[in-house]
Amino acid sequence: MSTETTQRTAIVTGGASGIGGAIAKQLAADGALVAIFDRDGEAAQAAAKSIVANGDRALGFEVDVTDRAAIDAGVAEVREQLGTPAILVNSAGVTVAGPSLEVTAETWNRVLAVNLTGTFDCCQAVLPDMVAAGWGRIVNISSSSMHSGVPGMAAYVSSKAGVVGLTKVLALEFGRKGITVNTIPPGFIETPMMRDTLSKGVFDMDLQVSRTPVGRIGQPEDIAATCAFLVSEQAGYITGQVIGVNGGRNT
Ligand code: NAP
Repeated sequence: MSTETTQRTAIVTGGASGIGGAIAKQLAADGALVAIFDRDGEAAQAAAKSIVANGDRALGFEVDVTDRAAIDAGVAEVREQLGTPAILVNSAGVTVAGPSLEVTAETWNRVLAVNLTGTFDCCQAVLPDMVAAGWGRIVNISSSSMHSGVPGMAAYVSSKAGVVGLTKVLALEFGRKGITVNTIPPGFIETPMMRDTLSKGVFDMDLQVSRTPVGRIGQPEDIAATCAFLVSEQAGYITGQVIGVNGGRNT
């Protein structure tokens, strides 16, 4: 089945790295005009350049998703340079590990600000355009950790559980406007964030792989393939869903 997304404008937050980077690349390969939002503007532009070098279309923008004014300014730039956004993928995220009794208010607020409030603010910034167009696709990247919890990741897991709730609410509010809102909670995916988490000893990779039915760690492209389908025309009857991409864990 074709998942072609030709000519639509897509914003991918956190698109300079890891899962967001693979999603940006896949949507551009499917024909979308891709805007990469990342807090590191140079990294966002470098990621866009590598997409353009493949013959596809992308621009990078320095947007910190904890800064609502920067989100609105970024979306305005996208409208001007690439067209009205019809697709939004929220992949920007941070993880902080540590025992719950040692989590400071600052850490808690920072993780929630990026992972949950940033996701909400980006949705709120693009939804009016989608409503006006009568068509839209939003995919929020949550985390398989929200299925079971993970010791030492209170802020992260709470933020991702919040993203699942937010996804369901937006799906209900905007379903009749032609807009679908879904979430992918990835399992263990080989990215800079995962390598950093492993280096802190939060997970034992061999143990995790042994508990994964398909017997391997996931790749960013595994998430990108599912996301590309969810933002396609053909996925219009899927909304408010939690689509696990985790090698068979947490089913
Ligand atoms: P990643 O490689 O670190 O990519 C995340 C990107 O988001 C980075 O470019 C990061 O920039 C950017 N970012 C962080 N804070 C931001 C902010 N305030 N504004 C804009 N951009 C910001 O991590 P990843 O593994 O691809 O993670 C992508 C998403 O998947 C995250 O939401 C994560 O929670 C989720 N996830 C990942 C896994 C996994 O196994 N990898 C599993 C479950 C869920 P910096 O590099 O400057 O921080």
